[in-house]
Amino acid sequence: TKPPILLSQCLLGDPVRYDGAHKQHAPIVQLLLPHIAATALCPEMAAGMGVPRPAIRRQSMAGADIIALAESGQPLSNQLEVTCHKLAASEPAHTAVAAILKARSPSCGIQSSPLFNHQGDILTLGDGLWVQQLRQHQARLLLVSEEQLHNAQSCVYFLRLCQLALALRLKLL
Ligand code: SF4
Repeated sequence: TKPPILLSQCLLGDPVRYDGAHKQHAPIVQLLLPHIAATALCPEMAAGMGVPRPAIRRQSMAGADIIALAESGQPLSNQLEVTCHKLAASEPAHTAVAAILKARSPSCGIQSSPLFNHQGDILTLGDGLWVQQLRQHQARLLLVSEEQLHNAQSCVYFLRLCQLALALRLKLL
């Protein structure tokens, strides 16, 4: 059985980024994709933000971590938050053993998403909105960024971990 794995959709080459580009990651597409049961998701597209869309950023406001327009710092409605919550609690997320997520994105970044103040200075790095929700709802998920899967060796190692996680889960059920 192929391990079920969530993926940031732009990593497969789909043009879902805010500027209509993609971030296809060759090792994932060529080495991993044939061996996994992939569910590709873009939380920003799922939230109906469309392509092209204004760039967004995580922003600290009165101690809260919010999503704002990158250019003006204007807070967005909480539609993206609602969508990330739904996706993280959905069946594909529940079934998955791992998630491969785009580094530095305000939605998909794992400990790599910049948190800005209103003036646009970076305060710290942290989890994007979808990753925050995945941690909350699916604590056992193995989370990796595409930058950790940069060559054949790291892909093989990751695949073995996923196969082991799946085997353990099937045994425990
Ligand atoms: Fe969509 Fe995440 Fe890729 Fe951004 S990083 S385009 S939110 S899948």
